[in-house]
Amino acid sequence: MRGHMQQTPLTIDSIFRYVERHHGHKPIVTNSPTGPVRTTYGEWAVRTRKLGGVLDTLGLTADARVGTFAWNSARHLELYFAVPSTGRVLHTLNIRLFPEQLTYIANHAEDEAVFVDRTVLPLFWPLVDSMTTVRHVVVMDDGGDNAIPDDPRVSLYEDLVAAAEPIDFRVEDENLAASMCYTSGTTGNPKGVLYSHRSTVLHTMAVVQPNVFSLGETDVVMPVVPMFHANAWGLAQAGPSVGAAMVFPGPMMQPKALADLIVAEGVTFTAGVPTIWQGVLPELAGREHRLRDIGCGGSAVPAALSEAYRERVGLPILQAWGMTETHPVATAARLPRHLFDADDEDKVAWRARAGVPFMGVEVRIVEAGTTDELPWDDVATGELQVRGSTTAQDYYRPDAGTELSTPDGWMKTGDVAAIDGYGSVRIADRTKDLIKSGGEWISSVELENAIMSHPAVAEAAVIGIPDPRWDERPLACVVLERGQTLTAEQVIEHIRPMVAKWWLPSAVEFIDEVPKTSVGKFSKKDLRTRFAEYPAP
Ligand code: ADP
Repeated sequence: MRGHMQQTPLTIDSIFRYVERHHGHKPIVTNSPTGPVRTTYGEWAVRTRKLGGVLDTLGLTADARVGTFAWNSARHLELYFAVPSTGRVLHTLNIRLFPEQLTYIANHAEDEAVFVDRTVLPLFWPLVDSMTTVRHVVVMDDGGDNAIPDDPRVSLYEDLVAAAEPIDFRVEDENLAASMCYTSGTTGNPKGVLYSHRSTVLHTMAVVQPNVFSLGETDVVMPVVPMFHANAWGLAQAGPSVGAAMVFPGPMMQPKALADLIVAEGVTFTAGVPTIWQGVLPELAGREHRLRDIGCGGSAVPAALSEAYRERVGLPILQAWGMTETHPVATAARLPRHLFDADDEDKVAWRARAGVPFMGVEVRIVEAGTTDELPWDDVATGELQVRGSTTAQDYYRPDAGTELSTPDGWMKTGDVAAIDGYGSVRIADRTKDLIKSGGEWISSVELENAIMSHPAVAEAAVIGIPDPRWDERPLACVVLERGQTLTAEQVIEHIRPMVAKWWLPSAVEFIDEVPKTSVGKFSKKDLRTRFAEYPAP
């Protein structure tokens, strides 16, 4: 027997219609060098419908991939809704990638048009001739005076929107592709993940839940995580889906500008990678604000950072785990009821975990290369695998040898994890970052956490260096807080009580800065190259 309910498709235009109709008065704010620019969902919706008309008049094909090369802004949000709501595929390009990667990605996706912020036009324009399918470059004037090329491919966003007719949005098939994101590809070529309307709506409904980001109409949501980093972790759809006010940093990504915006706009929820919050901490400490949650993930959130926020800003960091391939959010480490009256130490330890998956995502840990499930005792570690309606099945036009899923239908994450009796995931490491010493594994993440709990340490990244006897040994690369001094011995003495003796790093190097990836994570690949021969011959 089948249910007798209506078959309304789960599509992004349904989020659009909802916020347009019910929350038109709510504000959207975009920061700029000349101060915040304000609009409302009502005005935004009119422009978004007109942008839909622009996409039609540009002559883009029915399932055209439409690139963006832009900061977080209300205009970018127009593209987030207009592109998929006309059946086309939004392709957010990471403005910090190397030119060769951008060219590869735009060609692999076969982008027909790219919408570019004027402030980053000099990064994009030199590549346009290498992007063989790009026929239109639409410039969004977000300030600055970068010259706009005199070229038949170029048009101006505001001119096009002003001249366009608003259109109706109606996507009938919830399984149509809606947007695509490429992972940065630490090894091999970048890989494209293709989200559908259905997966996007399900992810949106999941992340607004109280167990995850807990978003509602009373919130003021500021995605610091870029809209080109895994769909801003779903916040650009989640905020509108509950009628939350939105605040976008625009190009103003400096720590002070972010802290000022949080305070001035009464932001209640924000999210970004750990290095962002590391920078913002001194700017926000001691100030009055309305923050209720600071979401953080993308790499392990150091317990010391979360605690520093609790002490100096008044709230700890809310850790979440995910990957581009999981839309990206899959778990969150909200303090559970059974720990409400627990010791501080237990609470800190819980917040240092990746957390519990939301309904719709299943997790398991297996012995590498097998389907043998390991116990949830928080001791056994194995490859973390996930499955669910917001998990990618495979990559878009994959290279050979990049199969994502196991034969029994689970997605391989490339992370090594333990799971406790409450189903809470603890990420031990990325498989490729584990340090193999004397046939046993050492977790670089745990060592980093321990080192970063020293007050004089700003950042620490631990990598494996070749060792003739043990195969590999840990090298700790440490950045000190400004004005602080520390010796290698002091670092080791600090962590001695926290980790097994044989985990203690064989060497400590003090460096000026940990190199970062295009999305602000520690780039261990760069550190491994730098210390490939250690100690230097
Ligand atoms: P890339 O880093 O290749 O651009 P993603 O942004 O999709 O790709 O990163 C996903 C990876 O980030 C995960 O597989 C995991 O290793 C790491 N990660 C994400 N969140 C966390 C977390 N809370 N703790 C530890 N690692 C995390």
